[in-house]
Amino acid sequence: MVGEAIAGLSIFNSMLDMAKGLKNINDAAIRNMAVVDLTEKIIAAQAEQNALVAKVGKLEKELMRFETWEAEKQRYELYEIKPGRLTRRLKATMSDGEISHDICAQCYNKGVKGILQKSVTEHGRYTMLTCAECHTALNLSLAV
Ligand SMILES: [Zn+2]
Repeated sequence: MVGEAIAGLSIFNSMLDMAKGLKNINDAAIRNMAVVDLTEKIIAAQAEQNALVAKVGKLEKELMRFETWEAEKQRYELYEIKPGRLTRRLKATMSDGEISHDICAQCYNKGVKGILQKSVTEHGRYTMLTCAECHTALNLSLAV
């Protein structure tokens, strides 16, 4: 990223040198070729600048998402909902008005908040907690 920005600066220096050199070219044909060359370099530099601006915007969004998650993840603690079946449970002291719930421990480790939803299999035999994000399913009915 920084290397690309520095490379972009050297392109501008090159274009500035070309622009300064135009006044010393007396032959119209050679000057026109230099103008065409300079125009191509300016267009290429504009495209690179646009790409860098887009990249910075993407990184700013990623940073904001990361900072938000860093605050959000502090609200949850590791919880063994059944022997060997781990979730992240909302801390009672950090509920901030939200009802108690569990989120997926796997998604938590990847920086994603996947709320676990309870469901019962079609024959009513098993109660499951399923993550809508990664589809991890924790069977709460079976003993380990
Ligand atoms: Zn998940």
